[in-house]
Amino acid sequence: MGRIVVLGGGESGVGAAVLAKVKGFDVFLSDKGDIAGKYVKMLEEWEIPFEQGRHTEDLILNADEVIKSPGIPSTVPMVRKIEEAGIPVVSEIEFAGRYDTAKKICVTGSNGKTTTTSLIYYLLQEAGLNVGLGGNIGMSYAYQVATCHYDYYVLEISSFQLDNCYEFRPDIAIITNITPDHLDRYGYDMENYVRAKFRIVRNLRPEDCFIFDSDDEITINHLDKIVTEAKKLPFTQKDKVEQGAYLEDDKIIVKYEDEECDIFLKELALGGIHNVYNSMAAALAAKATGIDNEVIRNSLGSFQAIEHRLEPVLSVGGVLYINDSKATNVDAAWYALECQTKPVVWIAGGTDKGNDYSVLKQLVAEKVKAIVCLGVDNRKIHEAFEEIVGKENICDTSSAEEAVKASAAFASDGDVVLLSPCCASFDLFTCYEDRGEKFKEAVRNL
Ligand code: ADP
Repeated sequence: MGRIVVLGGGESGVGAAVLAKVKGFDVFLSDKGDIAGKYVKMLEEWEIPFEQGRHTEDLILNADEVIKSPGIPSTVPMVRKIEEAGIPVVSEIEFAGRYDTAKKICVTGSNGKTTTTSLIYYLLQEAGLNVGLGGNIGMSYAYQVATCHYDYYVLEISSFQLDNCYEFRPDIAIITNITPDHLDRYGYDMENYVRAKFRIVRNLRPEDCFIFDSDDEITINHLDKIVTEAKKLPFTQKDKVEQGAYLEDDKIIVKYEDEECDIFLKELALGGIHNVYNSMAAALAAKATGIDNEVIRNSLGSFQAIEHRLEPVLSVGGVLYINDSKATNVDAAWYALECQTKPVVWIAGGTDKGNDYSVLKQLVAEKVKAIVCLGVDNRKIHEAFEEIVGKENICDTSSAEEAVKASAAFASDGDVVLLSPCCASFDLFTCYEDRGEKFKEAVRNL
């Protein structure tokens, strides 16, 4: 049947290897680093040969096709050699899509992917549909295609996962928004990054839907440059649209074909204008899937906040602590600050991804009373905001515990302490989840 080599032994790579095995291929998995114990066990259980700590060329360059994990840049020497040898390289999503006949709702974008994906999954579940959740969240798509049967999938897809997609086709594609992020992987070229995101629409047919933020200039400008036959369903908080979602008074109006669904803003479970966008995208996807208005309204009202995304942790001494550790770029932090209605003690910092903090200055002036920096190198944050909040209202910390204690000292009854770091977490933590967990633990110990 041919030989498939999988590069990378994480969630997506192991899932792809299992699917290839189930489909009868001769499979081999190679990871240049260490493979986590959980995945070693899975590979052994499925009797899939693998190596870790090296790439053995003789075992790789004889592949008919290579499945590359999204974490591996296409510039690494092994991938270059594979391409030079003329071996096709695909992503796990591309491979799994070949064996899946379910209807697929796929979400990409710079911010709001997980929230929107989870909202749609919840809406479809509440509607009683047989639906799986995957991609960048939870279990890999490929593993689920190998082991489950669903009628629908809701998939969160990062631009790295789209990079090696060619034939993959969603039934409903969503781009939540596009703002600069991960530019290091796209040659610091915004156009490359935008094009990568738009790969999600390239195979859409006339009966498929494309849902997008028409208030987002980057999306709109690129849309003018491409041809798509899909039904276009914009969502906007600025204009009115004939098909799509918009605001009227205190309601979201969703229009799809001849149907209309109205949702009161005050009934939405998730606060903040960014979540109005996410809720609009989710309601449109649900409407295009044929879900009843009543189910859409009720579900958008009963959805529970997701961990590490504006997650209320605890009130201590009248101060509410909010964990938004997933806000790893400036745009995400902008929305988190924007929706605060009480004075904010803001915990920010970490690994800077070339951030331009100027867009936050006005919000900080309006809402932030003190800043607690949580990172190894906090110079840029001091430079941007010290004058605004005052030298005495900004300090440096290097652990979640210290940051929470310093915040408690700045905060008084009625304030909010918001961890919305604008930065990646790798200088002090293993990942954003680790940062969020440690923050919550420190709050509970106050
Ligand atoms: P992603 O999966 O794309 O990283 P999440 O849904 O996990 O997005 O949200 C990440 C952060 O981005 C959250 O902490 C939130 O503050 C912010 N955010 C969520 N939705 C949006 C949106 N539509 N626009 C801008 N920022 C958003």
